[in-house]
Amino acid sequence: MAAVVIDGKKVAEEIRGEIKARAAALAREGIVPGLAVILVGEDPASVSYVTAKEKACAENGIASFERRLPADTPEADLLALVEAFNRDPAVHGILVQLPLPRHIDERKVIAAISADKDVDGFTPVNVGRMVLDEPCFLPCTPAGVIELIRRSGVRTEGARAVVIGRSNIVGKPLMNLLVRRSINATVTVCHTGTQDLAAICREADILIACAGKAGLVTGDMVKPGACVIDVGVNRVEDLSAKSGYRLRGDVDYEDASAVAGYITPVPGGVGPMTITMLLANTVLSAERRLRGDHA
Ligand code: NAD
Repeated sequence: MAAVVIDGKKVAEEIRGEIKARAAALAREGIVPGLAVILVGEDPASVSYVTAKEKACAENGIASFERRLPADTPEADLLALVEAFNRDPAVHGILVQLPLPRHIDERKVIAAISADKDVDGFTPVNVGRMVLDEPCFLPCTPAGVIELIRRSGVRTEGARAVVIGRSNIVGKPLMNLLVRRSINATVTVCHTGTQDLAAICREADILIACAGKAGLVTGDMVKPGACVIDVGVNRVEDLSAKSGYRLRGDVDYEDASAVAGYITPVPGGVGPMTITMLLANTVLSAERRLRGDHA
């Protein structure tokens, strides 16, 4: 039987409905949740991400404060801008679009964001809070993956989960979230040093691919009935497409969906969840400030 397709757009729409209601409740208290978005340079992928984030804010009752800076902006100027947003009471979330130009120390800039406004969940303080299971902002893509799994009714209690990828923004946070008591999965993390990836994947009740390698996961690596979540977004050449490329995930979708119980498509799976969780974190930050929860 073909796998149930997990429709990320539909789940994201459902969550955005909840976000709008929460933003409206804040508006009744005289508060408009605000997200500051900083883009340095003109990398086309970054420009399109930032534009999509601003549009999503406008559609969901969130104010966005945008700063587009030239690629040669000195690091000190960027740090000063982050500091100004840290102090600005109209701003509840700060997002610095990555990657930054090479002359800027990315870690220094991320660390400069106030933990109470770190709606991307990238600062060392937030990462520490996440690992300790303390109130924090969860990084958007991993949080979106967990939400997709939860809302699809996939059983996680006692499940074997395999994560392919160990990056700081996707693989490692997923590992941390999956072992939380509220999820209770047993987790294996695979990476470029892993031996016999296929055999490990075949043991997974929940298989999450976040390696950035098109078609890495084939049907023979999937346990029958497993839930397969494809985080990968890869551009592969396609001369029949107007752009000359098309987007492919890390999973061979046709092959894997014949074996899996649940599967996410690319595009339309994890992608729509990432911006949605950013909006959710921004509203959460405004709610926390209203309750006086911020440090
Ligand atoms: P990354 O390059 O930082 O990390 C990839 C990880 O995969 C590494 O830890 C590496 O060890 C592992 N890996 C690579 N090849 C492997 C292989 N052959 N076998 C086993 N492990 C392997 O990438 P990232 O930033 O974590 O992103 C991963 C993918 O997810 C990318 O395709 C990226 O575009 C996508 N992504 C999507 C979203 C979204 O919103 N949908 C958000 C973030 C990232």
